[in-house]
Amino acid sequence: MIRGRAGASTHVGQVRTGNEDAYVVLDGLYAVADGMGGHSAGEVASAIAVKTLAEIHTSTKPGMTTPEQVAEAISTANTAIFHESLDDSEKAGMGTTLTALVVTDPIAHQIVIANIGDSRTYRWRDGQLQQVTVDHSHVQTLVERGAISAAEARTHYQRNIVLRALGIDSSIDIDLFPVEVRDGDRFILCSDGLVDEADDSEIENEVRLKSEPQQLADSLINLANAHGGRDNITVVVVDFSVTGDPSESTKVGVGTESTHTSVEAASPAGTSTSRRTKNALALAGAVAAVVAMIVALVLAL
Ligand code: MG
Repeated sequence: MIRGRAGASTHVGQVRTGNEDAYVVLDGLYAVADGMGGHSAGEVASAIAVKTLAEIHTSTKPGMTTPEQVAEAISTANTAIFHESLDDSEKAGMGTTLTALVVTDPIAHQIVIANIGDSRTYRWRDGQLQQVTVDHSHVQTLVERGAISAAEARTHYQRNIVLRALGIDSSIDIDLFPVEVRDGDRFILCSDGLVDEADDSEIENEVRLKSEPQQLADSLINLANAHGGRDNITVVVVDFSVTGDPSESTKVGVGTESTHTSVEAASPAGTSTSRRTKNALALAGAVAAVVAMIVALVLAL
């Protein structure tokens, strides 16, 4: 049997006026979403994503137990955002990244990590930090092509271009990573507001030093803010232990000390343009002219 202890924090950062990130921490479900879109649409998209997953997790017993069910739940969230964007012209084109960690079989120590977009999940095991997810971003394709280094990607002027996002289309391609958890495994889910400000070695240093999950979440937020905090920052930390008594941590729904859902409220109206720094490209492989146009728009705002 595995048991997770979580800490989580979100922060608007030092530049933005609203927070379009959202996260959820429930017993067995942990997720970070980073919304994008004009007006308040980004925060609507990220909120729908985490809310939909939370509802599915809490309303079904025993919850999501297979990678397929995790994918199904995320597809449901995708559909919900997509329909909302069609119903309201102010929300047209809104979308969100999502990285989620779902405990699918606590007795067999099985979890599934899911990813769409450029939020990330890292695993800390045996003193080493490893990125589990692979970003669906333009700079990631440049890294894979050898055109730029991972370090250059963090400051690249096109780092905000996401190639996959929830809510952009009627269907969604989801990356799933099944992981067998070991005692002492620590997972860090975060939005790009952390990784664009701190490199993996800086993150690893904090992971090594901070023993409590909440302490680590707070320190990573502080680290990103100290480095400029150009974007909203969200961090969820989950520490797993393996326990011997299955009855001890049988899932009974919601209501532990680490159980809470949080979506930071948007700032008042009038801040829409300054927050629109991320653009979802629904069509991967869109022509360079379109990319350039979007980047020019980003830089102009
Ligand atoms: Mg972001």
